[in-house]
Amino acid sequence: MHELSLCERLLDLLQEESRRHAFRRVTRIRLAVGQFACVDPDALRFAFDVVRRDTLADGAAVDIVQPPGLVWCDDCACEREVPSRLACCPTCGGQRLSPRGGDDLTLVELEVV
Ligand SMILES: [Zn+2]
Repeated sequence: MHELSLCERLLDLLQEESRRHAFRRVTRIRLAVGQFACVDPDALRFAFDVVRRDTLADGAAVDIVQPPGLVWCDDCACEREVPSRLACCPTCGGQRLSPRGGDDLTLVELEVV
């Protein structure tokens, strides 16, 4: 399960941060999941609930935001938002698009005590 390994990486990151910034517990986590990341926010939430049990993130509130997918259109020479990786350029209908982010999981904000 893809979401489970993402959550394990996330937890590693949190533990690293807690050592660096000397906090003991995480109370809120805000994550951004790109539209192209092939991550289901519900599955991510579920996986995180499993992985974080008895860790510093146990009981933390989890917010998941989904920023739009961005591509670069060669025909308009402009950055566009698209709903899926397979979409054409919404402005010119062009297909010469290259992804500009939106395919990863990012830790946006952390509240700690
Ligand atoms: Zn275009």
